[in-house]
Amino acid sequence: MKITLTLLLLVVLNNQAIASFRKEPILNDSLEAYFSLNEVRLLESPFLSLQQKGKEYLLWLNPDSLLHFYRIEAGLPSKAAPYAGWESQEVWGAGPLRGGFLGFYLSSVSMMYQSTGDAELLKRLKYVLKELQLCQKAGKDGFLLGIKDGRKLFKEVADGKIKTNNPTVNGVWAPVYLINKMLLGLSAAYTQCEQKEALPMLVRLADWFGYQVLDKLTNDQIQQLLVCEHGSINESYVEAYELTGEKRFLDWACRLNDRAMWLPLSEGKDILFGWHANTQIPKFTGFHKYYLFTGDQRFLTAATNFWNIVTQNHTWVIGGNSTGEHFFPKEEFAERLLLVGGPETCNSVNMLRLTESLFCQYPDAAKAAYYERVLFNHILSAYDPEKGMCCYFTSMRPGHYRIYASRDSSFWCCGHTGLESPAKLGKFIYSHKKKNAEQENEIRVNLFIPSILSWKEEGVELIQQNCIPESEQVNFILNLKEKRRLVLRIRKPEWTDKATIAINGKVVRPFLDRDGYWVINNVWERKNTITLNLPMRIYTENLVGSGRYIALLYGPYVLAGHLGKENLPVTFWGKMNNTAMNKVDLATVPVFTVPAEQIPTCVESVSAAPLKFKINLKGFEKIVIEPFYKIHFERYAIYWPISY
Ligand SMILES: [Zn+2]
Repeated sequence: MKITLTLLLLVVLNNQAIASFRKEPILNDSLEAYFSLNEVRLLESPFLSLQQKGKEYLLWLNPDSLLHFYRIEAGLPSKAAPYAGWESQEVWGAGPLRGGFLGFYLSSVSMMYQSTGDAELLKRLKYVLKELQLCQKAGKDGFLLGIKDGRKLFKEVADGKIKTNNPTVNGVWAPVYLINKMLLGLSAAYTQCEQKEALPMLVRLADWFGYQVLDKLTNDQIQQLLVCEHGSINESYVEAYELTGEKRFLDWACRLNDRAMWLPLSEGKDILFGWHANTQIPKFTGFHKYYLFTGDQRFLTAATNFWNIVTQNHTWVIGGNSTGEHFFPKEEFAERLLLVGGPETCNSVNMLRLTESLFCQYPDAAKAAYYERVLFNHILSAYDPEKGMCCYFTSMRPGHYRIYASRDSSFWCCGHTGLESPAKLGKFIYSHKKKNAEQENEIRVNLFIPSILSWKEEGVELIQQNCIPESEQVNFILNLKEKRRLVLRIRKPEWTDKATIAINGKVVRPFLDRDGYWVINNVWERKNTITLNLPMRIYTENLVGSGRYIALLYGPYVLAGHLGKENLPVTFWGKMNNTAMNKVDLATVPVFTVPAEQIPTCVESVSAAPLKFKINLKGFEKIVIEPFYKIHFERYAIYWPISY
């Protein structure tokens, strides 16, 4: 009993010591911050529906099945059979990605609990942490992975036997990626939900990899290891430093920065052609975080250049990038458009993470506009409306369709990242500076999504209501504990002109700052209304690098046409198969034969709510057009051929 108490005391002291050494980023004072997810609640909208579907799936999953391989590797008996798909089946000859889902499950459950307050989620989180703690203790050395013979694999690596390609290390599928995801999951449990036991677990795993593997390798050998997909392992090590103040984690993070990417991108070179896209994107979030904690400018430059290059040269109209998982040259968009594999959902999830990170340092409307484009068009559309399961590819081929994951038999990467997106939909809507340059509180409105922001610390409640795109009006109610000064910065969307703003019924003309935000610096009454009118119109966007295809948009939404159900598969939920294969002849897709600038005048509204259009041109007679996210289980066209 005495020994147990002493041990307990040591653990408590250890946790306190770890917590008290938390490090702040070098630029902390000037950084924009997001509100905690529990300060933002979504109101009725397609985003709330997606959040609810995501929560249902999280609660449907059996944690014991996800824990199966962790218990087996720790020498403990399994409590439930593992799931099928990438969790336990052979893929590409590299073996399954055993236990790959659990890190994402931890982060998703943590964020979804904060976003919804559903106590059942917290119960699941605590259970999984307790089980993982048992696994880590049984293993004695800090190792915490589900991959088969993981210690043996990493012992070989530490001994200098490193044979990497992408996606394997010594024939095993992405083992460092799995460490990264487990570290991110534990970190989310600790930082989002204050589960204190998650931090020592994170530290033990990070130390295990650091001491047992990284310290045994030369810098060149680590670079060789980084050839294989490794997520944002560099970010995880900076985060371990942030959470503990232990310098060794920052040193390891430095060695985990992939030179093949940060060096050319820090020089502004677009070398992305041919690279596996989703292997690269997360690294740049890591580079940016490394900059934030070291001040090494080269990593900021690399991250900023990468973001600019991807968004300008590699991105489709829905915000996704690449096709068939790989980047390609700008000139090839027109031929790549015809492929069945379009942008991968993971890429967009990770580009949003990078955008969130860069936006904190320099919040501007360009980054928020990109975020909106991706969230409203790629992410929102990627989930089927029946089961809420995420798709892998969203083909850009006119007349194609999508396949979604099965609940229990897919567990592809896009199901991993696809678990997180519905859990953090409230993250980017608002942000704030505790004190701006004039020492005033400041709230930024980045996205037009119905929601309630409760900034309890400051006694501020901001309610946003809108029915975009069915209505042009966005209403805010600002409730304060007392009359006070507060700066509101509201993003001026690039898809509107002639916008009007009224405060408490009186039309105002606020200053538009150089970063694209309207600045309303007011002394507010206790209850205020702010009404925005954001006129929307049909507009077009050319396919990048080509004048041969065109897309239609309305407000923040990309529009698509319903192209029927010819030759569709019997089920839309794939198991190991994640690519929609049944093509239709492109000749069945109508062609615009008028100049691009005339196209908007040929589009006519046929229904205001829900918003639907038709195109008054020959060949388009039977086609209904509406926001792309609404079209599922049928063929669609986002891009249309244009020949004039
Ligand atoms: Zn993926």
